[in-house]
Amino acid sequence: MSIRYMRDILETSNNIVCLQGRGAAAEMGIDFYDEDFVFAIEEKYGLSPDEIFSSTFYHNRPAVFYKFYREEMLKKRGLPGVVNKTLKKMEDDGRLQAIVTRGMFNHSKSAGCKNVIQLYGHIDNNNCPHCGKIFPGSYIMEHTPLPMCDVCGTLLHPGTTLAGEMLDTQKLTEAAEIISTADTLLVIGCNLASRLGSMSRYFEGDKICLINNKEHYTDRKADCVCIGESMADIIQQVYPGKPV
Ligand SMILES: [Zn+2]
Repeated sequence: MSIRYMRDILETSNNIVCLQGRGAAAEMGIDFYDEDFVFAIEEKYGLSPDEIFSSTFYHNRPAVFYKFYREEMLKKRGLPGVVNKTLKKMEDDGRLQAIVTRGMFNHSKSAGCKNVIQLYGHIDNNNCPHCGKIFPGSYIMEHTPLPMCDVCGTLLHPGTTLAGEMLDTQKLTEAAEIISTADTLLVIGCNLASRLGSMSRYFEGDKICLINNKEHYTDRKADCVCIGESMADIIQQVYPGKPV
C-alpha cells in the first residue's frame, strides 16, 4: 500500500484522467458479471445475461428483452457511491479532467461529474432509432411491455451498446485523446490488462496510479499501487476531504 505516495501525486496533479472499471460498482453489489447473478439469470430466463442483452435478442424477442432490462438493470441501478462522490470532489477541485468508463449505470453523472466518457453508453440515454429522441430509464419503466417513442411510435433502443453491436468509435477516439494528454492516470476497479485498463497504452504522462481490490501481474506497470478490500476506503485516504 502506498497511500501517502498516491495522495502526494493526486493532490499535486492538475490533469488527472480516471479509468473507472466495474470494481467500484461491484463493491456496492451492482455487478452483472458476478457468478451468482449469472446463475440466477440463467435459472430465471434460461439464457445468460450476455445472450439476452444482445442485438439479436433485442430484435427477435423485444418483450423479454425489455423485461430483463427493467427487472435486472433499471430496478437494480443503485446510487452513486463514495468513489463516484470523491471523483466529483476531485473534478470540483480542478484536478480531475475526465472519467472514462464502461459502466452503464450512469453513476458518475448522477454524482454530478461533468466530463464523463461512457464507452458503452448508459441507461438514461435510451433512444428512438427513427427520430433520435432520447428517453431516461424512468420512461422505460413506465411504458410496458414495449417502450415506443412518443413522437413517432418506433420501438426504442436501450441507451447502451448491446452484445453484437459496434462500440462508438468517436467516443473511443475522444477517450484515447484525453488519456494521451493527461499528466496522471488514475485507474480504479480494473487491472491494466482489462479492456478498459489497457487503454493506458495511450497514456504519455508522468504517473499511473492504480486502486483495485485484487492484485494482478500487470500492476507493476503502474507507478503507485493501492490494493485493498474496499476501494471506497482507499480513495478516501488518498483523496481526503469531505465527499460532496
Ligand atoms: Zn421517434
